[in-house]
Amino acid sequence: MAVSTPQPVRGTQSMIGEQADRFAQVVATFDRVRRLYSFKRIEVPVIEPTAVFARTMGETTDVVSKEMYSFDDRSGESITLRPEFTAGICRAYLSEGWQRFAPLKVATHGPAFRYERPQKGRFRQFHQLDAEVIGSAEPEADVELLAFGAQLLRELGISGVKLKLNTLGDVQSRDTWRAQLVEHFASVRGQLSEDSQARLDKNPLRILDSKDPRDRPFADSAPPMVLTSEAEDFFGAVKAGLEAAGVDYEIAPHLVRGLDYYRHTAFEFVTDQLGAQGTVIAGGRYDGLIEQLGGPHTPAVGWAAGIERLAMLIETPSFEKAGVAVVAENEARERDAIVLTQRFRENGIAAEAHVTGNPRKRYQRAIKDNPCAIVSLDFRDGFPTTGMKALADDPQVAAAGAVYDEYRRDIA
Ligand code: ATP
Ligand code: MG
Repeated sequence: MAVSTPQPVRGTQSMIGEQADRFAQVVATFDRVRRLYSFKRIEVPVIEPTAVFARTMGETTDVVSKEMYSFDDRSGESITLRPEFTAGICRAYLSEGWQRFAPLKVATHGPAFRYERPQKGRFRQFHQLDAEVIGSAEPEADVELLAFGAQLLRELGISGVKLKLNTLGDVQSRDTWRAQLVEHFASVRGQLSEDSQARLDKNPLRILDSKDPRDRPFADSAPPMVLTSEAEDFFGAVKAGLEAAGVDYEIAPHLVRGLDYYRHTAFEFVTDQLGAQGTVIAGGRYDGLIEQLGGPHTPAVGWAAGIERLAMLIETPSFEKAGVAVVAENEARERDAIVLTQRFRENGIAAEAHVTGNPRKRYQRAIKDNPCAIVSLDFRDGFPTTGMKALADDPQVAAAGAVYDEYRRDIA
C-alpha cells in the first residue's frame, strides 16, 4: 500500500546547512549585543489566552482580524499562538510579578505565527528577535533601544538599512490628528481601497500605512500631526539622544504602527534589498498597552525583528574548521580512539571519533570533514603509534596539542 508523505504546513520552513547557519548567526549576534546593553534574557509561552492579543493589538488590526492562529483547547478556552512577543511579555510582567524588577530591560527570540499569504520574507511560522524596556517613561529608553537595534545591524554586517523615525504624539495630539485624518479621507472615501474604507471608520491612521496604490496619493497628502508641546519635547529628546549615541535616522512623518497601543516614538529599520518585505526591525513606545491588560499605567518601548529577513541580508557565515578528527587506523585502536575523543571533548575541544567502516578508508573520510587537526592511531612493529597533525592555525589546535601530549604521557 502506498503511503503518502505528509507535506509541511504552508508558510513553514525547515532549515539545514547554510540557511540554518545564517539563522543561528543572527540569533548568536543578537544574544551577544543584548548583553552589551544589559537586556535580561527571558522566556515566554508560545501560547496565550486569545484575549492577550485581541485586547492589546486592537480588533481592527490585520493581525487580530485575520492573521491569528486561534483555537479552543479541550477545556474550551480560546488559545492563540503568539503573533508577536510584546503582549505576552506584558501579560507576564503583570501575572508573574515582574513589576518588582521595573524598569526592566528584556530580550527574547522564538517563533511567531500569522496566517498570511506566504511570499519572500513572509511566512506563517516566522521568528522574531524581541527587545523591550518596560516601566520607563524616559526618552533615554527609546534611544537605548534604537542604539541596540542599530548596533545589531552593524554587527551582523548589514548595510544600507535606514532608521525611519516618527512620533505618534501623546493621546491629545493623536486624537486631534485622528479627527483631521478622518475629515481628510472622508472627502475622498469612494476613491480609497476597500480596506481603507473600512479603516476609515475603525482605524484611520492605518490608511497612511497602506500599500495599495489607490490610497497612496491621499495618504501622501494627508495633514501631518500637530504635536502638543510635551510630545514635541519628548520627540526632541529622542532625536538629541540619537545624535549623541551616533545613530543616524530619517524623519518619516507618515510612519505609523499598525497596532493601536503605540504612543510617541514609532520607528522602522528599512532596507530596499528585500522588495516589499523591507522592514527588518519595527517598534515603538506603547505606554497604553499594560493598562489594556488591566495593569497600572506603565510606560514601555520595544522592537521586534524578523530573523528570516535579517538572515537573508547577512554574508554567508564563515565557520571555523571542524574539531579534531581521531582516526583508529586499526580495529585494535578503536577503543583508544573513543577514549581520546572523549578527553578532547571534556577539555572543551570539539572532536570526532572515526571508528567505523573500512579502517583503511577512515583517514580519507575524516579529512573530508575539514578538521582542524587529525590524530591517527595505529600499530607499527607491534607498538601503538600515534601522531597528531595540525591542519589549521587555530587557537583550538594549540589547546588540542596539550590534551594530546598528556594522553601520550598517560599511555606511555
Ligand atoms: P509587515 O508590514 O511586513 O506585514 P508588520 O507591521 O506586520 O510587518 P510587525 O508586527 O511590526 O510587522 O513585526 C515586526 C517584524 O517581524 C517585521 O518588521 C518583520 O521583520 C517581521 N515579520 C512580521 N510578519 C512576518 C512574517 N509573516 N514573516 C516573516 N517576518 C515577519
Ligand atoms: Mg503584517
